[in-house]
Amino acid sequence: MKSEIDEVAGWILNAKRTVVFTGAGLSTESGIPDFRSPGGVWDRYNPEDFYFQKFISSEVSRQKYWQMATEMYEPMKRAQPNLAHLAIAEMERLGKLDSVITQNVDGLHLKAGNSPEKVIELHGTAMRVSCLHCQRRYDREMIQKRIKEGVKAPACDDCGGPLKPATISFGQAMPETETQQAYSLSSLCDLFIVIGSSLVVHPAASMPLVAKKAGAKLVIINRDPTPYDDMADAVIHDQAGPTMDSILKNLKHGLVSRDQGLGIGD
Ligand code: ZN
Repeated sequence: MKSEIDEVAGWILNAKRTVVFTGAGLSTESGIPDFRSPGGVWDRYNPEDFYFQKFISSEVSRQKYWQMATEMYEPMKRAQPNLAHLAIAEMERLGKLDSVITQNVDGLHLKAGNSPEKVIELHGTAMRVSCLHCQRRYDREMIQKRIKEGVKAPACDDCGGPLKPATISFGQAMPETETQQAYSLSSLCDLFIVIGSSLVVHPAASMPLVAKKAGAKLVIINRDPTPYDDMADAVIHDQAGPTMDSILKNLKHGLVSRDQGLGIGD
């Protein structure tokens, strides 16, 4: 009997369009804490202070926001891609990846080597900062330097508008282009692989459903059960890194066999 790893590798090998969907569970394996979990920064800050409306309307809120954001940014900056990020980047090099839709803001898919045009960052990115007035973008490191020098709530060099990390905050609308693109990619793929997402944060969590309804095979790789496990074609409750590494090895083996005309079937 085939293992689930073999089966998923075979599906990737034969799929025309594979979409990978990633969440916080992927990056915890790179040492980035899941901020919603106990002991995370939300235990020390009041989330209500970080609603987008407050950020816009109050200098004090902006200062508090930047204090928290700086605390969250430090472990992200140091984090390195793990085996799962690297496997996903390798899938792209092998021509076996249509796109990555991610809920993560840590930029690790890009650090791992995926092309920017293949990565849809649904919740934005913490690696950039944007001006809320003129939309000018800045490199995060450059702005963090100002914070280190004592600036409490940085402002735009061009227009003086408030600067905010380019992530989506509570109360802030989802980015329209990225969300549309993610729905479209989900509906057009024939294989949808969820990695490290508990699939509870909407609208992102509805994308596997969109894919499944459009006829794609659904694979879920997550340590804990998700609300979509019952409808998935394969479910692996395990760590993302080692699982994706095994799938990748198996996939490469399959590609070599196919090149040699041996075929591995599905
Ligand atoms: Zn500006």
